[in-house]
Amino acid sequence: MSLIKSISGIRGTIGGRGGDGLGGVDIVKFTAAYAEFIKRSTEGRARRIVVGRDARVSGGMVSRLVCGTLMAMGLDVINIGLATTPTTEIAVTEEKADGGIIITASHNPAQWNALKLLNSRGEFLDDAEGKTVISIAEKEDFTFADVWALGQEYINETYNERHIAKVLALPLVDVEAIRKADFTVVVDAVNSVGGVVIPRLLRELGVKNIIELNCEPTGRFAHTPEPIPENLTQISEVMRTAGADCGIVVDPDVDRLALVMENGEMFVEEYTLVAVADYVLSHTPGSTVSNLSSSRALRDVSRAHGCGYSAAAVGEVNVVARMKETGAVIGGEGNGGVIYPELHYGRDALVGVALFLSLLASSGKKMTELKAGYPRYAIAKNKLTLTPEVDVDAILKAVKEKYRDEEVNDIDGVKIDFADSWVHLRKSNTEPIIRIYSEAATMEEADRLAEDIKGVIASL
Ligand code: MG
Repeated sequence: MSLIKSISGIRGTIGGRGGDGLGGVDIVKFTAAYAEFIKRSTEGRARRIVVGRDARVSGGMVSRLVCGTLMAMGLDVINIGLATTPTTEIAVTEEKADGGIIITASHNPAQWNALKLLNSRGEFLDDAEGKTVISIAEKEDFTFADVWALGQEYINETYNERHIAKVLALPLVDVEAIRKADFTVVVDAVNSVGGVVIPRLLRELGVKNIIELNCEPTGRFAHTPEPIPENLTQISEVMRTAGADCGIVVDPDVDRLALVMENGEMFVEEYTLVAVADYVLSHTPGSTVSNLSSSRALRDVSRAHGCGYSAAAVGEVNVVARMKETGAVIGGEGNGGVIYPELHYGRDALVGVALFLSLLASSGKKMTELKAGYPRYAIAKNKLTLTPEVDVDAILKAVKEKYRDEEVNDIDGVKIDFADSWVHLRKSNTEPIIRIYSEAATMEEADRLAEDIKGVIASL
């Protein structure tokens, strides 16, 4: 049993005693705290909250508790039903709502669920706002409405269609080119809401040959949901045997997009954003942003277009803040999270699919040829387990000092950029570990770099 409260929401495994797993009491308490926070921050003017959910088995149960609690707090609910994370974000602004709650544990396995909290712009709460919600929940500092002030629930299940329509209306989405390319596309949506929206999006983009894998939104995940190579053997096999042009994999709430090439190999999640940015910059030059742990290939591709690149701290809310500061035209995260502000400031696999297929169609290339045209890097993800008494901050400071002659960024842990590689050290807030991400031309070199840094830390 697990229950994790963080600034981005509450997350846990369903069941168990209160406070141990994600139980009914925890869901009610946390939702009430969020409603209280929204009412306070709008000085009591708040009226309505959008609620969407992915297809997890527990989704219907959690949604009923969340919607009922919001109504008990005196807020109206716009229940958009089965919807992706980016769809729920868009619905908040379309409805001019005061906030939103997405019921999803993203790429976590089926026994997990979570509440992700949005502000009135359909964006995630920031650090201070998230901490306020946690504090209200811990003190149970909320007041339920009296009988005449209870909220109402309105059902509106049109948002998946509306989201698709908005994607199709983007000037850079080239439906004509995609239709003419006559692609065969394989989709693996891990039996969540992507199974409903991605095939539909593809049909409206003019793709006639769609092979659907795990597209029944039953919440019974056909494989571990995180879209990483070891979980994607089924689609790899189908790509090869079906002679398909492009494989699409999304996580259960459809904010991450991984692509599979015609030979069954991964395009590599890091390169989803790189390719989409390449396409966007070729039409609308401007600056780009990703987080410090994402591939340098985005910086290289941005420079090749004569455009600037900057890095943000890890976390979607930080990437979005940096994109707004720099007026970035495209950005996101190396885990397949594409953020295209022309539509909205949130990771969105639908917009990623539409822009990527526009690129593939207009390039006339195969995916392997497209990939070969991008700078070649490999990222190694290691961690170093420490004893609890070790002062991790002191270690990071010492590493920073040791490499002071290199390009060092300390906005989030310590990142050291070398000429042909980089290494990024971050401490975990929950365990005595340091995450060591390193990138170089090959995986062997990236691993060697991580080993070198582990040696440096040991010597400290
Ligand atoms: Mg996700």
